[in-house]
Amino acid sequence: MHSDCEIIWNNCLRFIQEQINEQSFKTWFKPIVPVKLENNTLTIQVPSQFFYEWLEEHYLSLLQRVIRRELGTEGKLEYSIIVDQGDTHQKPFTIKIPLHAPTYKQQHNQPISETSFKNPFTLKNIGTANQSSYLNPNYTFDAFIEGSCNQLAKSAAQAIAKRPGGTSFNPFMVYGSVGLGKTHIVQALGNEIKALFSKQFVLYVSSEQFTAQFIEALRNNSMQDFTHFYLQADLLIIDDVQFLTGKEKTQEIFFHIFNHLHQAGKQIVMTSDCPPRELKGLQERLLSRFKWGLTADLQQPDFETRVAIIQSKMEADGIHMTDELVQYVAHSVDTNIRELEGVLISLIAHASLNKEEINLKLAKQVLQNIVQETHTEVSIDYIQKAVAAHYSVSLEDLQSKSRKRELVTARQIAMYFAKKYTNHSLKSIGHYFGGRDHSTVIHALQAVNDMLDTEPRFKLSFKDLQRKIKFKVPL
Ligand code: ADP
Ligand code: MG
Repeated sequence: MHSDCEIIWNNCLRFIQEQINEQSFKTWFKPIVPVKLENNTLTIQVPSQFFYEWLEEHYLSLLQRVIRRELGTEGKLEYSIIVDQGDTHQKPFTIKIPLHAPTYKQQHNQPISETSFKNPFTLKNIGTANQSSYLNPNYTFDAFIEGSCNQLAKSAAQAIAKRPGGTSFNPFMVYGSVGLGKTHIVQALGNEIKALFSKQFVLYVSSEQFTAQFIEALRNNSMQDFTHFYLQADLLIIDDVQFLTGKEKTQEIFFHIFNHLHQAGKQIVMTSDCPPRELKGLQERLLSRFKWGLTADLQQPDFETRVAIIQSKMEADGIHMTDELVQYVAHSVDTNIRELEGVLISLIAHASLNKEEINLKLAKQVLQNIVQETHTEVSIDYIQKAVAAHYSVSLEDLQSKSRKRELVTARQIAMYFAKKYTNHSLKSIGHYFGGRDHSTVIHALQAVNDMLDTEPRFKLSFKDLQRKIKFKVPL
């Protein structure tokens, strides 16, 4: 026995089957389950939100026709959507989505990608051929040094380059903080795909550019051009998606572009300065898409990787540096690779200006300038206040000659940081702590080093304080 809704839906299916090819029918209509028929409204259950969007986008007029045919002009269609992620909503829930008004495409009944349209990057009229990718050709896999800090991201990127859209790494999201190589690695992926598959249209865009183009398109009434330009991409790379946070309308359009490309088996690659779950201000439906594929993080480079990067960059510039020097620089710059490159560029500049070799003396000079620049505000005064607050002692006691045990330790630590983060001499440091001589300061440094070696709990609290001082956290 078939219910009314099943009978009606079967009639619809028979009609639809005659109108479209078999593959599409199997993909998009077979999985649909008729749920109920009430007040001339047929409710059908579809497997996902995305499925629903696809039907609306591609089969709207067909669905309108078939509903009118079966249920008359008053007939309506509603979708019941099974929520994909499923933890909280195990059961399908119904959202009432009536058939939409026809879109531009359906009204004009022509695929827009075959017409000429404006390229949002230049706002010139172009056809589909010969687009530029907006990639920097210097960002290659060869120039990207591999280390344990970036191994997963690099191997995933290389796997994708061999079979864009064909791996389960779609979308591919690379995240990590500034200067760790996100842009480099995703552009290397783009360059590699261009080299391997000349017909693939690779497109790189930063999220800021994307947003600016979108706003421009709104202003110029060229939204169709804007969207259809992006829909042609075989590989879309969108850099720094954290800039989309809070930009609702831009997210909306990106969501649609994302869905179309993904469904068509095109590869999407993104970067972000934090993991997807921390991207506050991004719509949930967009976030859930980001989690479909693979996310890989880039971490701070370890010492060995920094050495390898320095060697490769200097070699590329035809400059020789002794191992000792390479290690010295690698030890001194441990934040990120952009900063490391900055130091190397300064080194080369100084050496060529003064027509001298790059040697340890020069390296020390250059690094000192950089270190001084970034640490100018750390004063002994600041260090004393930070240490006093951290160990709950008064500033006067810290600067006094008192030999109470907890005061002695705090004072030694403050001396240690004064040596490490200021340019004061031992003698001068002694002066700031109740007029002690330089041997007291040496003894303090030794005592702190001993405690660091032997007392793990001390070390934890010490590191915490050290971070504050290093980054000059306001007190
Ligand atoms: P992000 O986009 O994460 O801020 P970039 O990709 O702009 O970082 O990288 C900063 C600089 O460091 C670039 O010049 C890049 O070529 C270089 N770089 C980053 N990672 C590596 C690496 N593993 N090997 C060589 N150079 C790197
Ligand atoms: Mg970047």
